[in-house]
Amino acid sequence: CGIFGYLNYHVKRDRDYILQVLFNGLRRLEYRGYDSAGISIDSVHSPIVFRQEGNIESLVKSVHQEVSATGLNLEESFSVHAGIAHTRWATHGEPAPRNSHPQSSGAGNDFLVVHNGVVTNYEVLKQSLLRHGYTFESETDTEVIPKLAKFVFDKANEGGDQTVTFSEVVLEVMRHLEGAYALIFKSKHYPNELVACKRGSPLLLGVKEFAEEQNNGTSYNDTKFISKNGRPKELFLSSDPHALVEHTKKVLVIEDSEVVHIKDGGVSIVKFDEGKGKDGKSHSRPAS
Ligand code: GLU
Repeated sequence: CGIFGYLNYHVKRDRDYILQVLFNGLRRLEYRGYDSAGISIDSVHSPIVFRQEGNIESLVKSVHQEVSATGLNLEESFSVHAGIAHTRWATHGEPAPRNSHPQSSGAGNDFLVVHNGVVTNYEVLKQSLLRHGYTFESETDTEVIPKLAKFVFDKANEGGDQTVTFSEVVLEVMRHLEGAYALIFKSKHYPNELVACKRGSPLLLGVKEFAEEQNNGTSYNDTKFISKNGRPKELFLSSDPHALVEHTKKVLVIEDSEVVHIKDGGVSIVKFDEGKGKDGKSHSRPAS
């Protein structure tokens, strides 16, 4: 029902701060209604997922209880950290921890996805992934998405070298998806990056910069959503402007078929094209 993503750059944030940003994001989405909630943050070797049915405050409580059990240090600070969060309104599969998001590609959390909307052709995709040896733990339509991402990633890397980019993986996944969606992807293989895309469901990008208040009339170059005067300090993705306004007024509305790739302190946006996957053209976009 609601998605939220967060990345910090050029500014150190500790794990407790990152958790607070994700929880506050969820609280801003709460008014829309939901039956479950979940988040993913980085742990020692791979992303860690906390998710359950019920309200956000009970998720907050259980995360704080589990954090010490999982050996996560709340004071550990990160110069880059990619976190994702979700409030779910179930369409496929009852409210339950296994059906809550983030949904995973499997053990190790190679790929994690938060999803708003419905994948209408998920049964066909699921059958084909089952034939390729994937096992499913949820009844959601969403679970095919991270599994498809892992399938695409593994296939692209059969030769050994990891040359495929995170957004290329997502563009290939989109080629297979039917229905409506706004998605945020997090991956163990691209630890300091987030990729988001949408078709038919809302998605917004918020950029908070150093010295933002002095940046009136900032212009942006074609594909990189970085101002000439400032550096992005923190970036936010959400399905709902309510989750962004407390952080920044610099919000970009993502259009259908656009793929947002946040990496190395910059943002690039490519357009998915049914025929080619992307059109290669640059997109000039004013910030609002
Ligand atoms: N169709 C997905 C599910 O049932 C996402 C629902 C939502 O938008 O919250 O898990």
